Amino acid sequence: MRVSKRVGTEGVLLIGSRHAESNSIVGKRPPLEGLTSSPHVSTLTANPVGGLAMSRYCRECGVELVPSGNWPLSREKYGHYICRRCVNAQSKAYRKTHKAQAAATMRRWRRAHKGYYARYQKYWWKTNQTRKAAYNKAYQEKHRVEIAAYRKCYRAANSDRMRTNKKRWQRANPDKVKAMNYRANLRRRARIAHVPFERVDREVIFQADAYHCVYCGSTEKLTIDHIVPLAKGGAHIEENLVIACRSCNGSKGTKTLVVWLAQRR
Ligand SMILES: [Zn+2]
Ligand SMILES: [Zn+2]
Repeated sequence: MRVSKRVGTEGVLLIGSRHAESNSIVGKRPPLEGLTSSPHVSTLTANPVGGLAMSRYCRECGVELVPSGNWPLSREKYGHYICRRCVNAQSKAYRKTHKAQAAATMRRWRRAHKGYYARYQKYWWKTNQTRKAAYNKAYQEKHRVEIAAYRKCYRAANSDRMRTNKKRWQRANPDKVKAMNYRANLRRRARIAHVPFERVDREVIFQADAYHCVYCGSTEKLTIDHIVPLAKGGAHIEENLVIACRSCNGSKGTKTLVVWLAQRR
């Protein structure tokens, strides 16, 4: 192979074969062909501060090392000739083969940097909400049995505390308690009737029917009515729900729409 030596536009002395991409400052290391003793030093480049400095190359992948670019200053200081990408790959491989040690190191680090870690976590959770939700769901599905066992154990050990906390929360959130009771009641009725139950946003139904009873047009004491009653096999899904005033809803009861309208006439 023929070796050429020439000075590039940036004052870089380029040494390499004709076919090597040796025209750019950052590139793969050109073949050495016994021109230098150190495997990490092969060409002279212009030092940004002035004068000539030796070019360095990653000992793993051979990419040219750029100080504070792909070559952090700390690594440069201690003479570790390895690029950022290769170090990341190596630590990833280490974490895989030394799971327990890596976890212990992380635990120690988290304990030593509590405030910083809390801030980071908060930031991460905020920017990765959908990812987090998907991960949690998959985890819970995979570990359903263990989670149930853990919860049972926890409840047994903390029943008093849990009861006090629950009572305090209920006193502070009466509206939520009311909504939860309403939903629980509906869910129970749907289960007993063996009909599908979906979580429905009441506000959607109200808006769809423009805040009027669909049977008499009243705007007072509005409730949600199942067109086909749960007891008659109607599902608790959006398509089976309308707005009805309390009087219409009460008089319709568990009758089907046809029967009720016929009786009302
Ligand atoms: Zn590398
Ligand atoms: Zn009505």
